[in-house]
Amino acid sequence: MKVVVTRKIPGNGVKMLQDAGYEVVVGEQDGPMDRAQLLEFIKGADGVLGQLTDKVDEEYLNAAGPQLKIVANYAVGFDNFDLPALSSHNVIGTNTPDVLTEAVAEHAFALIMAITRRIVEAHKLARTQSSSFGPEVMLGMELKGKVLGVLGLGRIGSRVAEIGKAMGMNIIYYDIKQNPDFEAKVGAEFKATPDELLSISDVVSIHVPLLDSTKHLINADRLKMMKPTAYLVNTSRGPVVAEAELVEALKNKVIAGAALDVGETEPKWVPGLVELDNVVLTPHIASATNEARSAMGELAAENIIEVLNERPPKTPVKKP
Ligand code: NAD
Repeated sequence: MKVVVTRKIPGNGVKMLQDAGYEVVVGEQDGPMDRAQLLEFIKGADGVLGQLTDKVDEEYLNAAGPQLKIVANYAVGFDNFDLPALSSHNVIGTNTPDVLTEAVAEHAFALIMAITRRIVEAHKLARTQSSSFGPEVMLGMELKGKVLGVLGLGRIGSRVAEIGKAMGMNIIYYDIKQNPDFEAKVGAEFKATPDELLSISDVVSIHVPLLDSTKHLINADRLKMMKPTAYLVNTSRGPVVAEAELVEALKNKVIAGAALDVGETEPKWVPGLVELDNVVLTPHIASATNEARSAMGELAAENIIEVLNERPPKTPVKKP
């Protein structure tokens, strides 16, 4: 059987597939494959280990052919999957939950600390070699005693809440599902609407999946509900935040700042964003640790091996 891996990945994932006896072909290109290349590359594959930049839809499934049994996404988010198309082609979709939770939560916190303590601005200033200690130089916000609002208390959101708690923050959250066990464990407080959360948080960290119901969850109206001293951090998916409306809010000091790992039109940011000082940006690297990226490849490979042996995969995607 043939398994294709649409982009080079770190760790043992590819070796696991080779050891299982498949013909394994790895895309050697730099960056994501363009669409025509991808459709050609997956032709005849029984399994694909694919990237979140690969849109898996009717066209993709037709291009792969009827022998295709599994597309293993190298990501926990699977908004690149057309789920009805997968099920009508009898193709199983899998993702990589849990193994990247720590990496993403730690990155969310790195962004929270970078924006509230102005680390990137201070780094630029230090490199000018013209500034040193000053009572009013680079004042930021402390986290202890502040309110951390977690939007989406799933695997990653809960871990971010735990880290916030350890730093002395008061945790509130909004999710479509309330989690009384977590509330008791961490002392977190549930808010019945995102609006309520936004109006009292000092830091808002977003961890919802990208769905029709979460697209532009944060827009101009919701940004206006936030405190002018508050910060927005997004490590979920770009389109959850209306990025152009965020730029206006940042320019007009509607909120104090924003830190983003994901954008609406990656790798580009909307015009005006990169020039702002009250912004910290990273290029979709929240899961980019050696530990997480290796484990993601291994879990994706395990899923492929299970399905090609006609066993259930470890982590099938489910309709949200
Ligand atoms: P998860 O499924 O465990 O958690 C998502 C939570 O969001 C769930 O608790 C769900 O109930 C909640 N939710 C769904 N719709 C909602 C809505 N309309 N309003 C409020 N809450 C809602 O997923 P996870 O493993 O925590 O991952 C969360 C997301 O983070 C992924 O879907 C992915 O898009 C993103 N992510 C990004 C990176 C990155 O590199 N930046 C890495 C990993 C994950």
